Amino acid sequence: MASPTRTARLQTEDHRHLWHPFTQQREWEHERPLIIERGRGVYLEDTDGRRYLDGVSSLWVNLHGHRKRELDRALAAQLRKIAHSTLLGLANVPSIELASRLVALAPQGLTRVFYSDDGSTAVEVALKMAYQYWQVRGGPDKSKKSFLHLGLAYHGDTLGAVSVGGVPLFHERFKPLLFPTYEAHAPYCYRCPLNLTYPQCRVACADAVEDVLKRHHGHIAALIVEPMLLAAGGMITMPPGYLTRLRRLCSRYRVLLIADEVATGFGRTGRMFACEHESVKPDLMAISKGMTGGYLPLAATLTTERIYRAFLGRYEEFKTFFHGHSYTGNPLGCAVALANLDVIARERTLQKLRPKIAALHRLLQPLGQHPHVGDIRQLGFIVGIELVRDRKTKAPYPPTERVGMRVAAEARRLGLLIRPLGNVIVLMPPLSTTMKELRRMVEIVATAIGLVLPPRPGRKEGGKRP
Ligand SMILES: *Cc1c(COP(=O)(O)O)cnc(C)c1O
Repeated sequence: MASPTRTARLQTEDHRHLWHPFTQQREWEHERPLIIERGRGVYLEDTDGRRYLDGVSSLWVNLHGHRKRELDRALAAQLRKIAHSTLLGLANVPSIELASRLVALAPQGLTRVFYSDDGSTAVEVALKMAYQYWQVRGGPDKSKKSFLHLGLAYHGDTLGAVSVGGVPLFHERFKPLLFPTYEAHAPYCYRCPLNLTYPQCRVACADAVEDVLKRHHGHIAALIVEPMLLAAGGMITMPPGYLTRLRRLCSRYRVLLIADEVATGFGRTGRMFACEHESVKPDLMAISKGMTGGYLPLAATLTTERIYRAFLGRYEEFKTFFHGHSYTGNPLGCAVALANLDVIARERTLQKLRPKIAALHRLLQPLGQHPHVGDIRQLGFIVGIELVRDRKTKAPYPPTERVGMRVAAEARRLGLLIRPLGNVIVLMPPLSTTMKELRRMVEIVATAIGLVLPPRPGRKEGGKRP
């Protein structure tokens, strides 16, 4: 059974040999890391048998909970056939079947599936495809070599994806390594770059995108955007009509639209893909996170027949898309992804989600009264709660206060695992979360915020650090 000595030994070894992502290791070395050993449903269980609610779906990937029987079975069944064979010069069964299913579900016009391993690689593929598309078509369009992206955009951590990123904290450091791009400010309603209010603004923030396109479209291959919600930038929801305008602008200025649905795809926002909220048809679409229901790393870039056809030619013309990864189209990943789509269809995951999205909205309302809650943003089963020092001025907490981290630490003590984005508390429950579990999650978030930032006036805000 639970053996504290085993946990302590693992913690020591972790401290000795691991380097964790997005983690200040000096702090990590002074903590006792929580080591997860099991999971079931929306619960994770550590090496000492303690259970925690998985409040961010194991970093935005899990849909149906852990140890979903159908997904376990699909994986085991595929293992009895083969774990992996390459897509370079060979085909495999699950990758073919999955491609057909994805095309049937994707926004109209996306008929070709190029597999890769994670969100970042799916974005790299989209960028390289968009760039090469204009090159292989030839003519004056060969000058379309750059990209337009939004401020606060996040598209992954590989260098191409970082080049089109707009989160200063993550991306500024690597600037000398990146290719130059065009950036337009994010449609951040709570801190509107134009100081306007929706709907009177008539989505004037999109004018910034138009300005860039008007002046530079001859040099822009594609606009890349996270449809409906800038995720890692702070769960920033876009005003209605914004995405539609981007689509129209791209068509008008002959610039490809890349939809990065890595965070929003597979039901996360209440629709299969976020583009559906505004019936937008992108030219390329990157998908990953929820693709295998949170089981295995797998990704794909979907594109249109028009783009695909531009790459066709005689071998020696070298219009070939020279890109691929060792595990491209991995049969285990594809088999689980197929089972994931089966579960979504059979259990009617999206229909069942609708009342839960509404319930989540209701449950969050009381939090809006808290004097340090500046903004509550929700799209489907994605929630961002922006904490501010002063609600009137919207003054943010400085990083030294670490309010997000402290709220997460309190939530963990209370049995909920969440990971903030700076001062934004993120809640992203698995789609399978029941009403009862949802209520508990929101209750813990509210309690944790109250503990770190006591609402009573006159109290010294911030409290002391843990
Ligand atoms: C997470 C994320 C990525 C990167 O995906 P990885 O699998 O972490 O490489 C890209 N785009 C968006 C919108 C994301 O949320």
